[in-house]
Amino acid sequence: MTSAVSLRDVSCVFRSAGKTVNAVAGVDLEVRPGEFFTLLGPSGSGKTTCLRMIGGFTLPTSGTIAIHGQDVSLLPPYARPVNTVFQDYALFPHMTILENVAYSLMVRGVDSTTREKKAQQLLETVQLPEVGQRKPPQLSGGQRQRVALARALISEPQVLLLDEPLGALDLKLREQMQSELKSLQRKLGITFIFVTHDQHEALSMSDRIGVFNKGRLEQVATPAELYNRPATRFVAEFVGAANVLQGGDARRYAPAEALMIRPEQIDLELGPQAGNGAPRTRGTVREVQFFGSFWRVQVQPDQGGATLLVDLPVQGSTVTPEPGASAQLYWSDTAMHVIETATQA
Ligand code: ADP
Ligand code: MG
Repeated sequence: MTSAVSLRDVSCVFRSAGKTVNAVAGVDLEVRPGEFFTLLGPSGSGKTTCLRMIGGFTLPTSGTIAIHGQDVSLLPPYARPVNTVFQDYALFPHMTILENVAYSLMVRGVDSTTREKKAQQLLETVQLPEVGQRKPPQLSGGQRQRVALARALISEPQVLLLDEPLGALDLKLREQMQSELKSLQRKLGITFIFVTHDQHEALSMSDRIGVFNKGRLEQVATPAELYNRPATRFVAEFVGAANVLQGGDARRYAPAEALMIRPEQIDLELGPQAGNGAPRTRGTVREVQFFGSFWRVQVQPDQGGATLLVDLPVQGSTVTPEPGASAQLYWSDTAMHVIETATQA
């Protein structure tokens, strides 16, 4: 099967004020047709640059980019079968919503009846059938976001690029838009390449995720694989909460130089007396945070080493963890996941 988008050894070097920035370094990537693919990484890790190179707004310093098998490396944005939704939506404030959505059809000389009909259809697709005659300042942030989406979809792109499109929305609306966007993508069957720095957003929406760190792709995997089998320390710590044990700290529990244990995989018993069998370690509770359904407990092991995070479910717990309490920690062998140490967080 031909990839929807394919990057081969793509790099982008910026030179400004005598400084060189390797914004994207040697990225290989295959995005499948119809996939919801997310580029995830911290600020400055190269996500936007990567997306801009796929869209044609930035040219790679080296490497090639193909869309549905066609080498587009040297094509301008308008000649590529992709469209982009930018974070600030970039709507024209003086035009009506209908005109905004129909804009790219107007530029291409499509007659006004046809383009207004199509624009109206797309406003219905994004669940805004009644705002066509208004102007952007008269809409809420969430509504403007949907208009930007309708406008990008009207040219029927094979691939839609979205750069942190939900970043300006408040949490409640963002969560609602996450599920709407996902179901729209499924319904339309278009390939989405979605950029976010928010791991929750990435895990909840994506078919697969590529994790960026300092311009490099550290791992490409499904949300569950990323969470359960992170390839590097960086991925382990960026995606979800993680206990990463290194060196002697790791060797105490397994023959490995570095291993990861998720906080919810550790069982905690309070009190000095032995519970069920021998604990992996005993320690003292340092901090307790309440998260509604669980407490996140920081435990300092008696034998030294790094503090361990433990998620203790509230339901079924008879005592509340308090700082200073003694604790015993248990976990199974399968809770320990060996990772590479090559890349540092
Ligand atoms: P992200 O979207 O992950 O936050 P970017 O792709 O925007 O990251 O940026 C990656 C790196 O490239 C950063 O160090 C950024 O400062 C740098 N950069 C991005 N665009 C330019 C540019 N036009 N000129 C110089 N440096 C840039
Ligand atoms: Mg960015």
